[in-house]
Amino acid sequence: MNQSLLIYNTLSRKKEVFEPLNFPFVGMYVCGPTVYSDVHLGNCRTFVSFDLIYRYLLHLDYKVRYVRNITDAGHLEGDNDEGDDKFSKKARLEQLEPMEIVQRYTVGFHDVLRTFNTLPPSIEPTATGHISEQIEMVQDILEKGYAYEVNGTVYFDVEKYSKEFNYTILTNRNLEDMLNNTRELDGQDEKRGRLDFALWIKAKPEHIMRWPSPWGVGFPGWHIECSAMSSKYLGDQFDIHGGGMDLAATHHTNEIAQSQACNHVQPAKYWMHTNMLTVNGTRMSKSAGNGFLPHELFTGAHELLNKGYSPMSVRFFMLQAHYRSTLDFSNDALEAAERGFKRLMAAVALLPKLKASEVEDSKELPDLESRCYAAMNDDFNSPILIAELFDAVRIINSVYDGKISLNQSDLDALKQLVYNFVFDILGLKDDSIDESEDFENLIEFVIGLRNEAKINKDYATSDRIRKGLESMGIQLQDNKEATLWTKK
Ligand SMILES: [Zn+2]
Repeated sequence: MNQSLLIYNTLSRKKEVFEPLNFPFVGMYVCGPTVYSDVHLGNCRTFVSFDLIYRYLLHLDYKVRYVRNITDAGHLEGDNDEGDDKFSKKARLEQLEPMEIVQRYTVGFHDVLRTFNTLPPSIEPTATGHISEQIEMVQDILEKGYAYEVNGTVYFDVEKYSKEFNYTILTNRNLEDMLNNTRELDGQDEKRGRLDFALWIKAKPEHIMRWPSPWGVGFPGWHIECSAMSSKYLGDQFDIHGGGMDLAATHHTNEIAQSQACNHVQPAKYWMHTNMLTVNGTRMSKSAGNGFLPHELFTGAHELLNKGYSPMSVRFFMLQAHYRSTLDFSNDALEAAERGFKRLMAAVALLPKLKASEVEDSKELPDLESRCYAAMNDDFNSPILIAELFDAVRIINSVYDGKISLNQSDLDALKQLVYNFVFDILGLKDDSIDESEDFENLIEFVIGLRNEAKINKDYATSDRIRKGLESMGIQLQDNKEATLWTKK
């Protein structure tokens, strides 16, 4: 295989050949969640997309350090340095410590991502664990002349910065237009320029999360945390910086400005952004009332859903769209994805049962492998990969039905190919057994046989059934009315 990996770089607005700064090492930073509420599906899609990217880079044998932060301080309600800190507000409303909020939703976030079978990042730093690094970086930016302090708050000086550097380099927006679309400053404002943003914010007396700093007691701005933590763990310059596309215009634009002002280099070589979710064609959002949470999607407990879908069929559904395309949730699309996923898993389950024949090499297989790699090398094009894998499904089913024959080495190659792409790269696994009605019916049927054996005083058979089920993690519990079962 001699193909290069192409990555669409938001910075250049085109696909570029991926060349890591320090081969074979790859540094990847992805903006993590703000843990003050349940993780929403848009976030899940972003993290599933970067999981695919991470898995593929690992498969290509790169030594990847994947850093994904937890924002547990500093994210204000308005992304414009206005309003209250999201944690403090929630803590006040629920009469909890802010760290209780953080703990609860961090655990929930990890649970959901584990359900989606995402690999954990190499490092998951928290904003509150890196206050001194953030203060240091703010000091550095102040010393280099790109920030100013007013009454305990430190602002980044966008006007000064944009005289020397291209502030809108990431999104290519026109600075004049941006200024015209931003609120005029009034006498109440401490900022000098309309586009200036806070690096460090003075804490009001009622603000719970607060730290001492050279500028008085306060807390860090949201953007500085990612700049400080990415440079701490990946260096001043690293390979990939990712996140949802809604972060590009402000959060990532400001990250670039901070790092450039502080370190005199662009922080990341490749900027990657995932697209958003829609529901029946409309953008999914809490305010539009068309957003559902992951567990509602799994159980089907939402008025917009006809039924629940297993986490793996949702993962498969997400991967059926390219990460840069919008992904539209509808009952029809989810049901189609579920059917496709089951068909794929059924074929994968047939693989160990296939028998080799004494035939010449099959002509279809080498081509199939290079088509799978070509899909992934074209900016991680998972929908094309899945289409290619359905060609593998066709071959598997045809071999099983005796319509085509494969020799042993082709069969081994087919197995390896399918296992690599389905399990290791797409990160799918068969989760149907636990959920399916058939499985429950089967267990009930076996319990029925055991009860019959007991009635017939055939205790050897009834014990054998109980022990057999136990070895599969199924515990039986007899009571007067019925035999109950639980699965570990
Ligand atoms: Zn970030």
